[in-house]
Amino acid sequence: MHNKTLSEISSGLKNGDFSSQEITRHFLDRINRLDPELNSFITVTEDQALAQAIQADKMIAAGEQQALLGVPFAHKDIFCTEDILTTSGSKMLANFVSPYDSTVAANLKLAGAVTLGKTNMDEFAMGSSNETSYFGAVKNPWDTNRVPGGSSGGSAAAVAARLTPAATATDTGGSIRQPASLCGVTGLKPTYGRVSRWGMIAFASSLDQAGPITQTAEDAALMLNAMAGFDPKDSTSVDQPVPDYRANLNDSLDGLKIGLPKEFFASGLDPKLEKTIQQAISEYERLGAIIKEVSLPNSALSVPVYYVIAPAECSTNLSRFDGVRYGYRCADPVDLEDMYTRTRTEGFGDEVKRRILIGTYVLSSGFYDAYYLKAQQARRLIKQDFVNAFKEVDLLMGPTSPSPAFKLGEKTADPLTMYLEDIYTIGTNLAGLPGISIPAGQLDGLPVGLQIIGNYFDESKLLNAAHQYQQVTDWHKTTPID
Ligand code: GLN
Repeated sequence: MHNKTLSEISSGLKNGDFSSQEITRHFLDRINRLDPELNSFITVTEDQALAQAIQADKMIAAGEQQALLGVPFAHKDIFCTEDILTTSGSKMLANFVSPYDSTVAANLKLAGAVTLGKTNMDEFAMGSSNETSYFGAVKNPWDTNRVPGGSSGGSAAAVAARLTPAATATDTGGSIRQPASLCGVTGLKPTYGRVSRWGMIAFASSLDQAGPITQTAEDAALMLNAMAGFDPKDSTSVDQPVPDYRANLNDSLDGLKIGLPKEFFASGLDPKLEKTIQQAISEYERLGAIIKEVSLPNSALSVPVYYVIAPAECSTNLSRFDGVRYGYRCADPVDLEDMYTRTRTEGFGDEVKRRILIGTYVLSSGFYDAYYLKAQQARRLIKQDFVNAFKEVDLLMGPTSPSPAFKLGEKTADPLTMYLEDIYTIGTNLAGLPGISIPAGQLDGLPVGLQIIGNYFDESKLLNAAHQYQQVTDWHKTTPID
């Protein structure tokens, strides 16, 4: 039952093959049995889930037709959910119960989906391994000595272990695609502005974007249908109609132009991993696509530019956590300054503090022009590279991450090595483009993801390309746990 895709569960519910209560119970039992080892959930909302499932069964019996009616899924713990703990993986919010739903949570509720709980994540979405979570590291279900990737590692591990058929996630520099790659699942980061950020705890506001993690591209389309849309409450959300993302999944790829950025295949990429990616690309040639080399000449600037802009924005966004309004407050402060200082010293973890310090530094007068302004100028060049590439090709392809899942603890002592995990994903965020990672092979028994990048608002084309690959391969069906 747990290997069913979201689409299969949805049609099974409509056909009366099983009830929402049954399927919800099944996933809750798996979470109870398997998650103590994986730690992919921070909160399991068993009672609420079963109540929602009972309600969904009544609605199904009454002939209601919402797309995800009665289908269970999980939320990354970065989305505010009414009356349910929302921690963002931090001690700072370990006691925060949101009084309202984020737009993504509200949209999924409206579509009838049943929330199993909230998934573990790097603290405030800062990390590539899920090891910065206040609630402990998540284990990769393919090898529990390894990381699941981050920051949406809980969502990716939970889908890979079939503890949930789908999960929401967010991607600021790669946090949907990289964990999807390391866990062997499908992860879609939409165009910036496609999904509302309202009620999603902010990390770097000009980069953050929500999307789904699922088994298949078809399921990602189903989830995006429900998640996407204009939201007047988010001034950066884009007022464009949401197409049915499932409508073009079966289009032929004959004549599709695929660009391979030569910088993505340069030194630094493990040759065995490159071979796996090339095999996936050959599959696209067999499907009729035309492969062409392209160049993104400024891609080497992506990581340094990101690590100026993201910390700058996070230092501003995280200033709200001061012990006054919500979340953690230190014990017995002697005065206001003592309360601010100790609340933030005790409430934030090391990686978050490192970013706040860097961000405050690059924004300070005297350094602003040299770092922040310079980074914004370089960001423009990075974006222009993609704009130029999309004049020649329809999609770009390459690896999602430089290596398969690494060992727990392997990179924690060296933040710079950890930052390089997102070398292939960060450019997409800086440019605001959509990207997807799909399972495309294995190396030494560990999953490898293929990344596909599309032009602005070309999610349908991305999903079509991903779905066609999944019609002729079985990598997306592999799972580490029965
Ligand atoms: N790994 C990157 C970082 O730590 C990206 C995180 C993300 O996309 N949320 O900033």
